[in-house]
Amino acid sequence: MRCAICGSERLSPVGELVLGSERPVDRLRLRFRRPGFLKRRPAFQADLARACRDRGALFPFLRELDRRELDATAAGLLEIEDAGPDPDGANAN
Ligand SMILES: [Zn+2]
Repeated sequence: MRCAICGSERLSPVGELVLGSERPVDRLRLRFRRPGFLKRRPAFQADLARACRDRGALFPFLRELDRRELDATAAGLLEIEDAGPDPDGANAN
């Protein structure tokens, strides 16, 4: 595995990303737009990371259970409304 920023192979082992406290409710999550009224907002726990030992870039990623759930539901996920310009232009109106 290489650093996506500088190409270094010197990445740290996988660690846990935590916010100010260690409470599970404060874990980092990747959330998407609510798919409809009364529907649960899709969210996936993304509290694992590796760091580049040369540049310090941080690469967060999903836990395996959440990765599988994201993969299974990816086709129905909606971007958040204030996502800004799409760099790929894929969602241009
Ligand atoms: Zn790097």
